[in-house]
Amino acid sequence: MAGIYIHIPFCKQQCTYCDFHFSTTFEVYRKEMIDAICLELKTRKKYLQGKEVNTIYFGGGTPSILLESELTLILDTIFSTFSVNLTAEISLEANPDDINSSSLNMWKQHGINRLSIGLQSFKQSDLDWMNRAHNVADSSSCVSLAQAHGFENITVDLMYGLPDLSMDEWSLHVNRVMEMGVPHLSAYCLTVEEKTTLSNWVRKGKINTSTEDTQSDQFVKLLECIEKYGYEQYEISNFSKPGFESKHNSNYWKGEWYLGVGPSAHSFNGASRSWAIANNRGYIKALKNNSTYIETEQLSAVDQFNERILIGLRTSYGVNLDDLSNLNEITEAFNVTVNGFKEKHWVKDSGGTLTLTKEGKLRADYIASALFLD
Ligand code: SF4
Repeated sequence: MAGIYIHIPFCKQQCTYCDFHFSTTFEVYRKEMIDAICLELKTRKKYLQGKEVNTIYFGGGTPSILLESELTLILDTIFSTFSVNLTAEISLEANPDDINSSSLNMWKQHGINRLSIGLQSFKQSDLDWMNRAHNVADSSSCVSLAQAHGFENITVDLMYGLPDLSMDEWSLHVNRVMEMGVPHLSAYCLTVEEKTTLSNWVRKGKINTSTEDTQSDQFVKLLECIEKYGYEQYEISNFSKPGFESKHNSNYWKGEWYLGVGPSAHSFNGASRSWAIANNRGYIKALKNNSTYIETEQLSAVDQFNERILIGLRTSYGVNLDDLSNLNEITEAFNVTVNGFKEKHWVKDSGGTLTLTKEGKLRADYIASALFLD
């Protein structure tokens, strides 16, 4: 079982908070980029060592701006190069302003069976300062349009911890998504990343960030809402109706292999992690000249042990203690720390698998780091 991630490094405009790799001036070389992505797929055919691919994920950047011919070329290359399960989950991240009858029909026709829609907020002033390319009217209409075109497996992204977002407004946003009948929600707290327009504004005092208490209160409110509507929190920031968990992301969290293709994309094969150069021109040139564009980090047993804790504790799948002990000896100090967390009701142990309780989820990073091996 394995996944393929394709990074489409194009965006119409730059969202003020975003530090992903993308370019807004791509028209002159978009064909070269698609050719380079297809070439990378073919040259890295052996990376997955013949494992069956059960998920394909188009992320970015903005994959919803791909033309039909570009999407077809990439999918054809994947299907002719790898062994893809016929029931594979094929996801595409779509921005609301790219969603219309013709794009939906095209995606459907080419086998996209899961849409990830970046709504972010239902408040126009938020979308304005974020410099999103869509407006509130798009946010409201795109989901029902996708549903009317036969997309059932839809996830939407919302953000909390936004400047001046009141608790009532946040509650309204979450309830609105639940009432749209989408089976999956990803909700992320706004973080101020370095070298973004937002970090510049924060430094100059042009925008107020929310306090940690507000962020935490909004997270708790989110949990109350999703529980009311019968969604399961299967990862700290991800909520789904039964059977609609993201297979692609779940594979990441369970430590399955994946091949990431495109500039800045990351790959993982159990023993090492690698990533491609985050530079569009450099990536295209390297593929053309058959020169190096990937860096690789071998993961030690301790790295893998710590990663399993960090990622596993964030999910409802948890951390299996037998799997951990296969990576590294479980120390007495580790057991003492786990027992301390159990007494505080932050962690529970069900048959040798550690998961976080509700209280623990509010301290996930702290708990994980306390359990890391040096
Ligand atoms: S559309 Fe997505 S990837 Fe592009 S700038 Fe905005 S948040 Fe970043």
